[in-house]
Amino acid sequence: MTFSVAQVRADFPILAQEVNGQPLVYLDSAASAQKPAQVIDAEAAFYRHDYAAVHRGVHTLSARATEKMENVRRLAAQFINARSAEELVFVRGTTEGINLVANSWGTSNVRAGDNIVISEMEHHANIVPWQMLCARVGAELRAIPLNPDGTLRREALAGLFDDKTRLLAITQVSNVLGTENPLAELCALAHRHGAKVLVDGAQAVMHRRVDVQALECDFYAFSGHKLYGPGGIGVLYAKEALLEEMPPWQGGGAMIASVSLREGTRWAKSPWRFEAGTPNTGGIIGLGAAIEYVSALGLEKIGAYEQTLMRYALRRLAEVPDLTLYGPTERLGVIAFNLGKHHAYDVGSFLDGYGIAVRTGHHCAMPLMAYYNVPAMCRASLALYNTHEEVDRLVDGLQRIHRLLG
Ligand code: PMP
Repeated sequence: MTFSVAQVRADFPILAQEVNGQPLVYLDSAASAQKPAQVIDAEAAFYRHDYAAVHRGVHTLSARATEKMENVRRLAAQFINARSAEELVFVRGTTEGINLVANSWGTSNVRAGDNIVISEMEHHANIVPWQMLCARVGAELRAIPLNPDGTLRREALAGLFDDKTRLLAITQVSNVLGTENPLAELCALAHRHGAKVLVDGAQAVMHRRVDVQALECDFYAFSGHKLYGPGGIGVLYAKEALLEEMPPWQGGGAMIASVSLREGTRWAKSPWRFEAGTPNTGGIIGLGAAIEYVSALGLEKIGAYEQTLMRYALRRLAEVPDLTLYGPTERLGVIAFNLGKHHAYDVGSFLDGYGIAVRTGHHCAMPLMAYYNVPAMCRASLALYNTHEEVDRLVDGLQRIHRLLG
């Protein structure tokens, strides 16, 4: 079956509307993607027919809800090719997944004098938790510098790693530049120094098939809402041996084996030890539907379609006078730009007036803005439902703004 963008678009009810008198062009999926009817309906059906608190109940609905939730854990494990479902923790999103690792694994494995390596292109979610950990334990945070085209400066790598490096925390795909980092090489380098590797997969899982075993990473985090799933749900993968050693991060119900005021508390097995409190079961069901949705379309087909669209967009955007593009030619998902000296907010506001949704601002990557010496950028994301005509609308809109503002 070939990939039909018309058929895909028909699955996304929100796209069929006008904004400011124009058909909506939604180019903000990297911030949050729209949801197909399959996801919306799966979550609604769960609440209509199967909802109950999970894990504790002997009653039928509770058992059914638990089974459905644990099925999604298995599905998500297959989706990223984890060895087993027990390697997957449900979290609120990438941010919470990274904070879990920083607080649990980080606190027990990173000591004064150690260092953690990140890169200059990271999202704040993969910077701030490490800054907080380093400040707490007296460790050093190091950043891999960039080349002007938005790739990592490979020559700098060797000097950043040493026998005090405990972790490399790196994004698979930059949310601003679209750069895909050479993870195999980076993982091998980090492991040679005895360091673990955490991969921020927030901008990768919707564009390409991810295989955590092939990557050989130790931790991998992604968010459901960028994968056409609901908000408030994500996944943290950790190698089983690591997860079993890690202390719980949050305490509460559902993460215990037994609690005694006299003898203290014994933890549940992982991954449940890391899921304190009542989980977002509706979100988990929606995430399962999203994984089924992209898997049925086929990530290879999605990726191939998006690449064609990306090449077309880069070619067409080159026709816009005074447009600065950031990032490498080979990229996934996003195109960040500035038009002349105009502030990204002004350009974004004009585009909104034409019915075109792009993101403007620092994209939660202020160190990257500092590197390019700009306060903000506009960012157009290309997702599986975007079309060549929508790229034309963006180019027309930018040309119009250039004519108006100069
Ligand atoms: N990392 C990257 C690369 C991202 O793009 C994002 C979301 N913008 C995050 C982490 C954080 O994801 P969430 O807000 O879903 O936790």
